[in-house]
Amino acid sequence: MKEHKAKATGVKTEKMAREPATAAPPLDFIRARIAEDRKANKNGGRVATRFPPEPNGYLHIGHAKSICLNFGVAIENGGTCNLRFDDTNPTKEDVEYVDAIKEDVHWLGFDWGDREYYASDYFDRLYQYAVKLIKDGKAYVDSLTADQIREYRGTLTEPGRESPYRNRTVEENLDLFERMKAGEFEDGAHVLRATIDMASGNINMRDPTLYRIRDVPHHRTGDKWRIYPMYDFTHALSDSFEGITHSLCTLEFEDHRPLYDWVLEATGVDCHPEQIEFARLNLSYTVMSKRKLLELVEGGHVLGWDDPRLPTLCGLRRRGYTPEAIRDFCDRIGVAKKNSVVDVALLEHAIREDLNRRAPRVMAVLRPLRVVLENYPEDRVEEMEAINNPEDASAGTRKVPFSRVLYIDREDFREDPPKKFFRLAPGREVRLRYAYLITCHRVVKDEKTGQILELRCTYDPATRGGSAPDGRRVKATLHWVSAAHAIPAEVRLYDRLFLKENPEDVEEGQDYKSFMNPDSLETLPGCRVEPSLAHATPGERYQFERQGYFCLDPDSSRDALVFNRTVGLRDSWANIEKAGKSEG
Ligand code: ATP
Ligand code: MG
Repeated sequence: MKEHKAKATGVKTEKMAREPATAAPPLDFIRARIAEDRKANKNGGRVATRFPPEPNGYLHIGHAKSICLNFGVAIENGGTCNLRFDDTNPTKEDVEYVDAIKEDVHWLGFDWGDREYYASDYFDRLYQYAVKLIKDGKAYVDSLTADQIREYRGTLTEPGRESPYRNRTVEENLDLFERMKAGEFEDGAHVLRATIDMASGNINMRDPTLYRIRDVPHHRTGDKWRIYPMYDFTHALSDSFEGITHSLCTLEFEDHRPLYDWVLEATGVDCHPEQIEFARLNLSYTVMSKRKLLELVEGGHVLGWDDPRLPTLCGLRRRGYTPEAIRDFCDRIGVAKKNSVVDVALLEHAIREDLNRRAPRVMAVLRPLRVVLENYPEDRVEEMEAINNPEDASAGTRKVPFSRVLYIDREDFREDPPKKFFRLAPGREVRLRYAYLITCHRVVKDEKTGQILELRCTYDPATRGGSAPDGRRVKATLHWVSAAHAIPAEVRLYDRLFLKENPEDVEEGQDYKSFMNPDSLETLPGCRVEPSLAHATPGERYQFERQGYFCLDPDSSRDALVFNRTVGLRDSWANIEKAGKSEG
């Protein structure tokens, strides 16, 4: 946590340096509200937030926004942030998700200490409050069917109608509720509803359901409960039980705020947190709802929750994203009250910036083309000194073996080069990084297919290190590996999962899955990487010179390395920014 605090401050300092005009970055509207509350000594100046995931799926980058906000606000104000599992729906929840969520929040760099809570731990207290509401005439057992309840609820333009069961006596309600709990009834036979106002302009206030019967075991409470509390009731009271001061949630709960406040007032609890809504994060070219992510995973459209093409935190991690980059991204997008779609290029920009600072550089050839240096002695091997990270002198240097037979990337050679192609071509001289200038003399092809098998070249022994004593210049520097020393590897190249900028924007009868990119994964099996990577461990990130950032995948074994491309080198965000399309 300390480390993160320091980092967060580091980020701010850097921002201020970039914008010298302003003394301090302006607070977003939530931080401004909290600052006001503290100034007015509300809650004795205390700030307590919570991150409340439902354990029905893995966390995604949208959750990261909420995590950074809730934990960030707590850290900045010397407060606390709880991790609370909103586990009120036993049919969709699982411990697998609980464990994954905890791992992801920790990975992002946040710690909830011993403040790990579960709404299910409050089931007894919630039940007591429901009984209190019944006794106070503020809740009743309704026996309409689900369809009837929907029909009685009315619409946005028409008021609802009161249920014929609304005027049951307290005794009858208590008896029925008790028997609901005891498991005497089928699912759906009765529900407990709040007695509020069937004519309210806000549909959430038309006698919302507080409890329903579900004869389903819960992943934490087992068979103990046959009735489960609804989200709005549970959430407001859980916040109150935990002494939350600021309950930060996404915009779709704005219309639920009157109910949130009603629950706290009607139950008469001491602590009444303030609900503040902010805009969800949406990212271009992907989907973010857990329901859709689950569908992609279960339908085999991706290879699992941690498929590097998904916006899940475990997918981003496997792809090579760092927690620092994700936090920086969340910092940059800020917190606002208006929904918008953030360009995925901004996320890519954040990881590129972070990895540029710290990823060691190595040479890797993705589509190998053999190069034979005809004038280089057969048995000679030279150790070329290569810089590990030009951005970080302390990263030092390493030795890369050089020999007579090398591989370069096929893309770096053209037999018939177009105008602006300055890399290798017949008769042309180029530089091999950290090594020599070489000239291509002959192209060896497969007689039948015409495919290029190898290039016959010569090197100039006087150019070791890459410059010629006579001062002659070359226009390109290529990366390479020594054929005898390089290690084989598989490289997985990822592209956008969807072709459409907003895949959730579908016409009637269309399915978002029809916009999936059929080429979102390209696997290159025959790559060659420099031998220093022999000891790489899964999760380690590198810059493959001239190509991008890559991360060793857990599918790797000692003699079969697998790398994921995190992001290419080209900064398309910078281009977007230049073109004036920046979101600021
Ligand atoms: P989804 O719609 O993806 O299933 P959810 O809101 O149902 O998400 P929860 O587990 O309830 O998922 O979310 C936990 C917290 O994270 C909530 O406070 C929610 O508002 C917040 N959150 C979820 N998605 C986003 C998002 N895209 N941007 C910002 N916050 C989010
Ligand atoms: Mg939710």
